[in-house]
Amino acid sequence: MRWPHPTLTTALGACVVAVVSGEGRLWAADALAWEIHKSDHFIVYSREAPDGYIEGLIARAEAYYDDITGRLGFTRFDGFWTWDQRARIYLYRDRQEYQDTTRQPEWSEAGSDVREREIHTYVGMAEFYEKVLPHELGHIIFREFIGYQRVLPLWLDEGIACFLEDKGNPTRLMSAKALVTTERFIPFETLADLGGEGLGDAEAFYAEAASVFEFLFQRYGGEKFVDYCRRLRDKQNWEAALKKVYGFESLSAMNAQWVAFLKEDAP
Ligand SMILES: [Zn+2]
Repeated sequence: MRWPHPTLTTALGACVVAVVSGEGRLWAADALAWEIHKSDHFIVYSREAPDGYIEGLIARAEAYYDDITGRLGFTRFDGFWTWDQRARIYLYRDRQEYQDTTRQPEWSEAGSDVREREIHTYVGMAEFYEKVLPHELGHIIFREFIGYQRVLPLWLDEGIACFLEDKGNPTRLMSAKALVTTERFIPFETLADLGGEGLGDAEAFYAEAASVFEFLFQRYGGEKFVDYCRRLRDKQNWEAALKKVYGFESLSAMNAQWVAFLKEDAP
């Protein structure tokens, strides 16, 4: 599997990674005529959107931008965070137009091209604001900080994006807490190897990956996360940097602490 690749999201909220080959823009959005609206951090491309829709979209996107960069700690230190180019949101008229233009699979509800900083969706998509927008924006912001070229294990990219979903994350955390005492539970050492074709139990994978960040943020705070991201940006090995920043002797030692965290107040 290679990065960059697009992410595709289903109505059920799983962001599914697909591999692409070749260069250039992924989707044929340029073939359509768009109305363009700009805000501080976004450009919204729309087609005959209902009155007030674009204003609402821009307000939510800007609020998530502030929330996510703040939660991840990226804006806390001067000089480390830049957002030179606005992200682009393509808002198709309806699901049919989204699917016809992007030629994505039937189940795909929204997509993003992280490298191109694009999110593609359509007017009225279910759970767009609650799950899809923070998730896809989370992918873009995380990669904007650490770099787009780095190939990293999937749990890192998907875990952080799921962790940032306002509405999805509490549900995923409950799932991870329920899974931890069952045979379905994927230990961290195994989770870290999963990706692409070998995802297996996707529900467990996404819930657990998100809960790793819940664990890291709750137990160790945001500064260590920024330190970790800086090391990823500086091309350090993801595993060595994780052990160094958080003080884990090994991945299995980290697993033991994460499992103990999940077992606290488990349902
Ligand atoms: Zn994702």
